[in-house]
Amino acid sequence: MSVEDQYRRVAAEVAAVCEQCGREPSDVRLIAVSKTVGPEGVAAAMEAGARDFGENRPDQLVARAAQFPEVRWHFIGNIQSRRIPDIVGAAALIHSLHTLRHGQKINEAAARLGTVQDVLVEVNVSGEASKSGVAPQEALMLVRALAALPHLRVRGLMTMAPQGDPAAAEAAFRGLAVLAGEIRSSLDDAEAGAFTELSMGMSEDWPCAIACGATMVRVGRAIFSDSFEE
Ligand SMILES: *Cc1c(COP(=O)(O)O)cnc(C)c1O
Repeated sequence: MSVEDQYRRVAAEVAAVCEQCGREPSDVRLIAVSKTVGPEGVAAAMEAGARDFGENRPDQLVARAAQFPEVRWHFIGNIQSRRIPDIVGAAALIHSLHTLRHGQKINEAAARLGTVQDVLVEVNVSGEASKSGVAPQEALMLVRALAALPHLRVRGLMTMAPQGDPAAAEAAFRGLAVLAGEIRSSLDDAEAGAFTELSMGMSEDWPCAIACGATMVRVGRAIFSDSFEE
């Protein structure tokens, strides 16, 4: 299938899964993770209606945000201090923030640009050593510290679930949703009003993530690979 057809199929499935779960399709944003394809892949997905794209390398994020300014670019990769000014200039939302030090640098970069940067806090719910993210028991303190920075707006939480283990993935999604609820209830009204997003679910597990409350799913292979099998 073409990228256009695969994007349309995933988007239709996202809407169908939302309805099965009693959720509004408009409550879930489908982010097309284009890190493995060239600009023609991005253009094809846009043609099929994609308006949110994810990249995990700053160089590619910056180049594509410049080439395709009419869509929203999400940074979902590892953050390095020296690349923060580039990321802040290009990303509508940074999904992978998990240290106060990087939060302070993002705050400074956004202040220089006269903007407020939307961020998610990445949580390592499953505790796997290979995953980045703040530990769940430290997430509340980090969110509160970040929320105090004037050029940062903490919009919610993100996690990467264990791959190849549906039960462990579901536990991670449920864990993130419960944690987000706990954190929201301890924020002040303005902070809690902004803290609404749950970025979780990838090609192999996004339906479960939606059932568990995801508001953003990050889908790469199911849109851009012609060999992805569900
Ligand atoms: C690559 C990537 C995805 C997309 O993964 P697929 O399995 O290709 O859907 C989602 N989130 C992050 C953080 C990624 O790096």
